[in-house]
Amino acid sequence: MARVYNFSAGPAVLPEEVLKEAAEEMMDYQGSGQSVMEMSHRSKVYDKIIKDAEADLRELMNIPDNYKVLFLQGGASQFFAEVPMNMMKNKKAGYILTGQWAKKAFAEAKIYGEAVELASSADKTFSYIPDCSDLPITDDMDYVYICENNTIYGTKFKTLPNTKGKDLVADVSSCFLSEPVDVSKYAVIYGGVQKNVGPAGCVIAIIREDLITDECLPGTPTMLKWKTQADNDSLYNTPPCYTIYICGKVFKWLKKMGGLEAMKELNEKKAKILYDFLDESKLFVGTVVKEDRSLMNVPFVCNIEDAEKKAEIEAKFIKEATEAGFVNLKGHRSVGGMRASIYNAMPIEGVEKLVEFMKKFEKENA
Ligand SMILES: *Cc1c(COP(=O)(O)O)cnc(C)c1O
Repeated sequence: MARVYNFSAGPAVLPEEVLKEAAEEMMDYQGSGQSVMEMSHRSKVYDKIIKDAEADLRELMNIPDNYKVLFLQGGASQFFAEVPMNMMKNKKAGYILTGQWAKKAFAEAKIYGEAVELASSADKTFSYIPDCSDLPITDDMDYVYICENNTIYGTKFKTLPNTKGKDLVADVSSCFLSEPVDVSKYAVIYGGVQKNVGPAGCVIAIIREDLITDECLPGTPTMLKWKTQADNDSLYNTPPCYTIYICGKVFKWLKKMGGLEAMKELNEKKAKILYDFLDESKLFVGTVVKEDRSLMNVPFVCNIEDAEKKAEIEAKFIKEATEAGFVNLKGHRSVGGMRASIYNAMPIEGVEKLVEFMKKFEKENA
């Protein structure tokens, strides 16, 4: 069995240990005689799986008691609509535009109310995080929205915006559990788990309790009301059972690795190996300003002026890297170039070997 080094932005690499355990439990989960895929979500066995997953997540993130944890479907993209549906009491909110995912959330909010652009980094292809110390936030805004780690462009908020007392909503899809966070600084933290946590099919939302009310926008579907989901402990209908089970295993793996402090240290070490190389390389160059670089998604291009030649050598690099076992390095279809996503489950050897390969490629193509 040959496993590749998978630099996919999502669905993405999972810890091998977790995959092995899941394989072992496939035919018979802990003496139940069934796989987790086959069992009732109302069974005692499954109840323990979802409760343990929540308890471990609460421990890992140190989630205060006045926050609910919901396991939802629909992906992060559906949650773009759930935020205004559940939070736009005044029908007005502020959005900070730092890339495609923030723009999509912004466009979705406009369907439901007045979404105001507070700041943007569109002027420089989203290669930096705008200054958010004094934004034009008005008193009538229901919340301020950010995409904390920009999966496509590779930027990350290193300090949270000054929301002037307004509730902060953050899409953390691609930096979920990559480092410790102070949950109490947010009103809502959410993310699709298929980037840094588990398989596709589930969004985890951590929501301050006072925001979970019956007062949603008129026409909000029952399923998309946070109150419905919270009142039923994420079991209003059939949840993504198997995905939640794997997420639970990843939480246990993270605890074993030393928790989020340890992950942060490891992620910084991994990212440094790649960024240091990009900074010294003559062929490859990172596309993000240094102070806003993501630890998770590292976009880079070939430093060649002639556009045709550049495209040619980048294609050659991606092809040869794939053949050498470094897969999914192609940049997002909207930006081109390359992107290495180095999530929690990417071992440090994967990054070291990628850099070795890049050095070799650079020499051969000088
Ligand atoms: C991938 C991604 C999304 C979209 O996730 P879906 O679950 O596919 O809807 C949203 N936000 C961010 C930051 C992402 O990386």
